[in-house]
Amino acid sequence: MSDADVIYKTDALIAEDIDQYLEVHQHKTMLRFITCGSVDDGKSTLIGRLLYDSKMIFEDQLEALAADSRKVGTQGQEIDFALLVDGLAAEREQGITIDVAYRFFATEKRKFIVADTPGHEQYTRNMVTGASTADLAVILIDARKGVLTQTRRHSYLAHLIGIKNIVLAINKMDLVDYDQAVFDGILKDYTEFAHSIGIKAFTPIPISGFKGDNITGLSENTPWYRGPTLMEHLETVEVNSATDADKPFRMAVQWVNRPNLDFRGFSGQIATGTVRPGDAIRVLPSGKTSSITRIVTMPSEAGPAGGAGGGGDLEQAVAGQSVTLCFADEIDCSRGDVIGQADNPPQAADQFEATIVWMADEEMLPGRPYWLKIGTQTVTATVQHPKYQVNVNTMEHLAAKTLDLNAIGVANLSTDKQIVFEPYEANRTLGGFILIDKISNATVAAGMLHFSLRRAQNVHWQATDVTREFHANLKNQKPAVLWFTGLSGAGKSTIANLVEKKLARMNRHTFLLDGDNVRHGLNKDLGFTDADRVENIRRVGEVAKLMTDAGLIVITAFISPFRSERDMVRQMMQPGEFIEVHIDTPLAEAEARDVKGLYKKARSGELKNFTGIDSPYEAPEDPEIRIDTTGMTAEQAADAIVARLIP
Ligand code: ADP
Repeated sequence: MSDADVIYKTDALIAEDIDQYLEVHQHKTMLRFITCGSVDDGKSTLIGRLLYDSKMIFEDQLEALAADSRKVGTQGQEIDFALLVDGLAAEREQGITIDVAYRFFATEKRKFIVADTPGHEQYTRNMVTGASTADLAVILIDARKGVLTQTRRHSYLAHLIGIKNIVLAINKMDLVDYDQAVFDGILKDYTEFAHSIGIKAFTPIPISGFKGDNITGLSENTPWYRGPTLMEHLETVEVNSATDADKPFRMAVQWVNRPNLDFRGFSGQIATGTVRPGDAIRVLPSGKTSSITRIVTMPSEAGPAGGAGGGGDLEQAVAGQSVTLCFADEIDCSRGDVIGQADNPPQAADQFEATIVWMADEEMLPGRPYWLKIGTQTVTATVQHPKYQVNVNTMEHLAAKTLDLNAIGVANLSTDKQIVFEPYEANRTLGGFILIDKISNATVAAGMLHFSLRRAQNVHWQATDVTREFHANLKNQKPAVLWFTGLSGAGKSTIANLVEKKLARMNRHTFLLDGDNVRHGLNKDLGFTDADRVENIRRVGEVAKLMTDAGLIVITAFISPFRSERDMVRQMMQPGEFIEVHIDTPLAEAEARDVKGLYKKARSGELKNFTGIDSPYEAPEDPEIRIDTTGMTAEQAADAIVARLIP
């Protein structure tokens, strides 16, 4: 939402001179903050109080709330405080599927966006979402309860996410008779904890959201308190963008703005630093350099279609501003690239150490490919086994094989392409990322990059003189991977064997990689958990890929139960070389055959994690070849597959 779209309902000033009001308003700074704390710490009441006391609420909220009060039949247009709070709470309850509710308000000095997130532990992801853009966090504590697990957890997350300004709002002071000793006791506990996790400073304020103490006016009930009111603090605290302006210049390109042949500009929001016409810049990851000729203000939300014109040219632009930059030279630059200061550019790398906050019900699968989104870049990433997991109550590092819902851990990860990045500490935009499941499209984790691993810079791909084409020509064939997938006992090994024999008779150079055999050597360290199955397939994929480079026709017979890993292997191969063969035997049939007696063992509970019984099989949606073994013999199936490969 752009500022111009905003219609405020406020009293005298607007009536007097709307232009003057809007002018003043446009130049106010914006503070984004988040409220967190346990379930009953009084978040809704506090937010209601801030909205109510600031007396400036957005039109749509007013309408909704007015409708509510009409329903109850009170007060007419005048909003009742209690009703406002009820309305907010009810809205949040209903909106449980909405990650975060953002509420807007403004005072004479500043505009505010507050991210309101539910307090239950299972909503860590919402807190992370809300916090990712916040300048400040208000940690609420119920004065009767003191520092709780959620207080510690949320403080740790807020700090981890890089929120520099923490307000410790010790709430419900009215319920402890405004007792200074209670306030001091909680302050002492929290200070100890805060220092242990690296929070150097925070602002403690005794408040009552319900009664309004120390919210906008200093309360007579707490004469012993000499600090600012909550609102005063929110209005005057320095926002991140002010300090971001002093950092080196970086802007991720959101789109290339080319309305006609005479104009070519690169649009995005400046992450850090300041830019002026004449500045030397470097485009990453290509490393090409040029200089800035123009800084054009964005034609508002209309986006690329809004044309090049938009506003006028700027003499300079700083962190937080959305602009279009023009270069002196016609160098390559596209969406996902990052423009940086020429002599101090960000780095590019493909292997990192990172902190990961896992937010999905399904555990993290090391080795599984996920989408990784960072700034405007999207790549494929795989995460290794965590180095450790953090117990957010004790701050202990625990050994971990994976990360479950709400777990926070540190792990190495690698991406399929180089990404332009900076450590999260230095730059939230270029160091913060999310992981997305490739099949369900759900956001499964948020993370922060620490640093790139040296390895990435030191291991180069060795270009060899005898190329893969040469290998293939020597064998007089086109390399391919026939990837068999299906339940245990479906017939993969039997048919794969026949296929290899038939191909050999046709003078084709082949190699059969069989699931059971590989587990005796290359993969003998792996078991049958989901995580190990993923790694099993990743390794087989890499081996199959090397074999196609050697010019071979590779046949693999692995259950390979997960779609994501089969797709990962498909992506590894040259286009057209991956042929997925679904040996589509119904579970009942495979179980009836039970060649290796495994189904019997699985049914009796003797064998755990057996595909089709207590471990899932995700059938291919669109395989190149589907074989129904109930309708043909193994011999016929093999003929059909060979015919498809060599028409
Ligand atoms: P997988 O490798 O998929 O675990 P196997 O090939 O080891 O399966 O076992 C499949 C069993 O099913 C073999 O005993 C095979 O003789 C039998 N079978 C019966 N009909 C067929 C068919 N049409 N195609 C393949 N195998 C069949």
